[in-house]
Amino acid sequence: MSDMHNLLEKVYQTNDLTKEEITYLLVNITHADREILYSNALKTKQTYYGDKVYLRGLIEFSNICRQDCLYCGIRASNAKVERYRLSPEEILACCEQGYQLGYRTFVLQSGEDLWYTEEILVNLLGAIRKSYPEVAITLSIGERSTDTYQSLLAAGADRFLMRHETATQELYKRLHPTMRFEDRRACLSALKQLGYQVGAGFMVGLPGQTAADLAEDLRYLKEFHPDMIGIGPFIPHSETPLGAEKGGTLEDTLALVALARLLIPDSLIPATTALGTLNSQGRELALKAGANVVMPIITPTSVRKHYALYENKICGDDHPEDCRYSIEREIQTAGFEADLGRGDSRKFVVGAMGSYQ
Ligand code: SAM
Repeated sequence: MSDMHNLLEKVYQTNDLTKEEITYLLVNITHADREILYSNALKTKQTYYGDKVYLRGLIEFSNICRQDCLYCGIRASNAKVERYRLSPEEILACCEQGYQLGYRTFVLQSGEDLWYTEEILVNLLGAIRKSYPEVAITLSIGERSTDTYQSLLAAGADRFLMRHETATQELYKRLHPTMRFEDRRACLSALKQLGYQVGAGFMVGLPGQTAADLAEDLRYLKEFHPDMIGIGPFIPHSETPLGAEKGGTLEDTLALVALARLLIPDSLIPATTALGTLNSQGRELALKAGANVVMPIITPTSVRKHYALYENKICGDDHPEDCRYSIEREIQTAGFEADLGRGDSRKFVVGAMGSYQ
């Protein structure tokens, strides 16, 4: 057997590879090897989660951000963005619409917007919890203090998404002039320790990112063992300092999604909107390479186009119903079954022991 086939077999059988082995695999993988990788990742997903694909309603409630990440379209110094902020009442109306459409997980995402104080967020979470006791509430609002994370958890949040973005300190520093590598890591650890279901993850194809950097990302995820893993291509936004850069490819992103599934087999992995934006088949291919979550956007159409982390984002004008039905069709065409339930991490489901029953 060739080195490559040994590695593909090793990661499939043991769910482990060293950083050097991952780097070798990423650099040398051929088209035929990719098919083996995707197929093994799909089988692994089916062992843990069957053919279910969990749907989450994504509410992008503010595009105001105090941070200045070089890649991001809503970075503080992009003066061309029309900024918006939904009131708690508008967010609740959005939840109601999502609930009527059948969603039982809401993901509340925003730029780092401190207008939403701990008190405002606690009240909002309390109101959502009161109206919909059975739903899962996921926050993706960036860095806050551990005390605030604790209060938000107590007020009803269940999950928190915060990509680590890149596990290479030097690259992180270059891309995040207003943030610190250690702070992001500390937030992720605090969230996990407090008892949230935590999502980490990274972008693929960042300027200057190497195969060794991506291997480091996967090793970090293997060690940290998050419940959710978001992996998407970097897509350049023209109004950012990285506007003229190349961006990540479909093939590279799919290989990393598949490797994440094999290395952290019990994780929930979205087929990201960014991948769907890069290629019309992107999300379907990700589902066939180990992903098992899709997050249809239910942000009000009046503001949706302003939440442009990158340009030409899909579902820009779709009404939430259309967005849900087109995604369900995509899931069915790919041969899977859309599930609107909470879709908790297997680590949090009592009695879930590794293989899908
Ligand atoms: N502020 C929160 C945070 O920092 O976690 C959540 C919002 S942030 C805009 C959501 C994610 O968008 C980031 O974690 C980043 O990976 C992704 N993102 C931002 N700009 C992007 C781009 N140009 N291409 C692809 N993904 C991008």
